[in-house]
Amino acid sequence: MRFEVTRALDAIERRLSTDPLRTGAVIDLGEIVRLVDLDGGRPAQLIRVGLVIDALSRQMGDDGLALYPVASRGLLSDTDLTSNERMVIRRWSDDGLAEVVPAEVAALVRVCEVAASIGQPVISREPLPGYAGIRFAPATAPGGAALEGGRGTTPKRPAAVGRRWQCPVPDCASFGSTAGPFSGGAARDGRQPPPRLVRGVAHCPRHGERLEDKGSLPFAVPMVARVGGAVRERFVVTEGQSTVVGRAPDNGVVLGPYLDGEAVRRVSRNHVRLELRGDELRVTDLSTNGTVVLSRPGPQTAPRPVGLALEQPYVLGEWDLVELFEGVEVCRADRQSASDGMAQQQSVMGDAPTMAMRLPRS
Ligand SMILES: [Zn+2]
Repeated sequence: MRFEVTRALDAIERRLSTDPLRTGAVIDLGEIVRLVDLDGGRPAQLIRVGLVIDALSRQMGDDGLALYPVASRGLLSDTDLTSNERMVIRRWSDDGLAEVVPAEVAALVRVCEVAASIGQPVISREPLPGYAGIRFAPATAPGGAALEGGRGTTPKRPAAVGRRWQCPVPDCASFGSTAGPFSGGAARDGRQPPPRLVRGVAHCPRHGERLEDKGSLPFAVPMVARVGGAVRERFVVTEGQSTVVGRAPDNGVVLGPYLDGEAVRRVSRNHVRLELRGDELRVTDLSTNGTVVLSRPGPQTAPRPVGLALEQPYVLGEWDLVELFEGVEVCRADRQSASDGMAQQQSVMGDAPTMAMRLPRS
C-alpha cells in the first residue's frame, strides 16, 4: 500500500509546476491537504492534492495540465503531515514545482496574486477578499473530488508579467540565473512565475528580495488542440508570431496524424491562423471547408456557434472553442471544458485507492 502512495505522489509531482504555460489553476497547498471531507482520511495528507488534480482533469477534459501550488513555509514543519510528506514538499519547492512563501506572506494572498497575474483560476473554498478572477471550489464527489463554480472575470495582466526577472539569491528556484530567453529556475522550458508586487515593485515570492529587471518578454498563451475529446497537441501562441493549425501546415501545429475518415478530407492543410495582439487572441480561417467558433462566456454556459468569414480575423473570448471539424478543436489550455463523450482521463491516484488515504501515520 505504501508503495502505491509513493507512486501516486510521483504521479502528482509530474502535474505540479510554477510555469504558467504548463498550469491550469492555482492552489494553496496548505488548504488542499486539509480538505478531510474529500476522503475522510487523516487531518492533513499530501496525496489529497491528487484528488484535486483528477478533478481538474475531469473538469477541463485534459489530464496533462499542471497545478501551481503555493505553500506557506509553516507547512514544512506541520506535524499533521508525515516527515516524508514534509520532505516531499521541500523537494517540490527546491525543484521549483511548488512555491514556498515566507511565513509573513499569507499563502492564499499569494495564490490570488499569482492567479490574477497569469489569468488562471484559483481552486479554493476560502473567502478570497479582493479577488474577482475565476474560481472553482473543490467539492466531494463519488470516487474523489469535483470542481464547482468557474465564474469570475480575468483581471488585467500586470506589466510586471511582461518582464523577465532575476533574484539576487543564487539558485533561486523561481527567478534563478540560468539564463535564456524564457528561463528562470523551474520554468526552464517555459515561463517564470509572476513576481510578487510590493507597492508596485517586483520582488521574489520565495526570498522577499527585490528582483532585477532583465528585459521585456512577449506575452504568450498556452493552447491545446483536441481530437475526439483527447488533447493531442500543446502549443503556445506568442505575441509577434502567428501559429497555423491544420492537417499539415509547413510550419505549425500538425493534426494530420490524429485525423481519420471524414476529418482528413474536411480539415485543410493550413486551416486556421492564431495570433496575439496585445491581450487579444485572434483566429483567422484559412480553410476550404470553413471554421466555426463555439463561443461561450463561461465554462458552464452553452456554446453559441459563430461561422468565421474567410481570412477575416476574429477575436476569441477566453472560453471560446475553435472547431475545425466536428471533434477537432483548438482552445486555450487553461480554459478548457470537458465535452460529452470525452476520452477518459488518466488518474494520478493510480492504484492508491481512497483506502490508502486512511492509513495510520508513519
Ligand atoms: Zn528568489
